[in-house]
Amino acid sequence: MIPPFAYVRARSIDEAVALLARPESRPAAGATDLIGCLRDEVFTAKAVVSLGGIEAMTGIAETADGGLRIGALTSLTTIVKHALVAGRYPALAQAAASVASPQLRNQGTLGGNLCQRPRCWFFRGGYDCARKAGDTCYAMQGDNRYHCVFGGSTCLIVHPSDTATALTALDAIVSIAGPKGTRSVPIQQFFVLPEKDMTHENVLAPGELVTTISLPAPRAGLVSVYRKARARASWDFALAACAAAITIEQGKVTAARIVLGAAAPIPWRVEGAERMLIGRRLDEPTRARVAAAALNGATPLEHNAYKVAMLRGVVSEALGSIG
Ligand SMILES: Cc1cc2nc3c(=O)[nH]c(=O)nc-3n(C[C@H](O)[C@H](O)[C@H](O)COP(=O)(O)OP(=O)(O)OC[C@H]3O[C@@H](n4cnc5c(N)ncnc54)[C@H](O)[C@@H]3O)c2cc1C
Repeated sequence: MIPPFAYVRARSIDEAVALLARPESRPAAGATDLIGCLRDEVFTAKAVVSLGGIEAMTGIAETADGGLRIGALTSLTTIVKHALVAGRYPALAQAAASVASPQLRNQGTLGGNLCQRPRCWFFRGGYDCARKAGDTCYAMQGDNRYHCVFGGSTCLIVHPSDTATALTALDAIVSIAGPKGTRSVPIQQFFVLPEKDMTHENVLAPGELVTTISLPAPRAGLVSVYRKARARASWDFALAACAAAITIEQGKVTAARIVLGAAAPIPWRVEGAERMLIGRRLDEPTRARVAAAALNGATPLEHNAYKVAMLRGVVSEALGSIG
């Protein structure tokens, strides 16, 4: 049973920040992950601060420079259905569409999707693991079939969010409000590896909130795509995923960002593979070389060697859908 907690509705970002300054207060957006975490004792809460009534954190708007500003409380369904997202940033629309089930996409928000806690079955399963400030990562010796092949060190989670992978390829900016004011962080610096912080997946300090996610204006020739492999066609997290944002001018690649999902504790950018694309046509031999290079340095665990081939496959599929 979930221990009792106070439930408070914030009406503004300032009010939410003030309420979250109290000890053991947790923000709730759609609460689809929060309730599971409280139930599974991933963490506790003396107070849950609902963000649902904060108008300034909802909706999608075009910015003066042709980019998009998405409120952190915007539902995943709204993102999937938005014409500008689908038209200009299809990787994000496809990633959001691949999350869970229609009910969870109706209720779940973009900010909550980025800030959801990992799905490692030891972390969720009542083990006092390293990510909960214990002294062991149980996935090192235990069943690690769903764990990482890059970036693991002292904790072997994979980041669970589909939209995080797409937003990293799209070079998004995360805006944050907290007790010390506001700040903006490129999404690649928002997520942190266990070697930097073992118990947090991102740079949010206590009491800080994600308020908006901004996307830069798409350059001419930008094409983006998200591909996800999973055990079931719906209601399932990625076993392997790839988001690619490729700019093609006069038939040749002039810029590329390729990001692997379900591969590492953070969305995992493969810059060596990206560089191999620059100046080339996206033909089949190039795609095959780049997909192979994307997995250079992967270190599979005892039970997840299958992921290397699967990740190579989603990279190849993602590039193939562009080229
Ligand atoms: C059966 C199932 C299948 C799923 N499958 C997938 C999947 O395939 N892909 C995928 O990506 N996800 C999947 N999910 C996760 C789901 O997408 C998340 O539960 C949802 O996106 C979280 O959104 P929310 O608004 O409900 O977040 P909440 O549950 O409200 O919050 C999640 C966490 O983030 C914090 N938080 C929320 N908003 C903010 C904010 N603005 N700033 C700072 N912290 C915040 C909360 O305190 C909480 O710790 C699945 C979940 C379930 C239950």
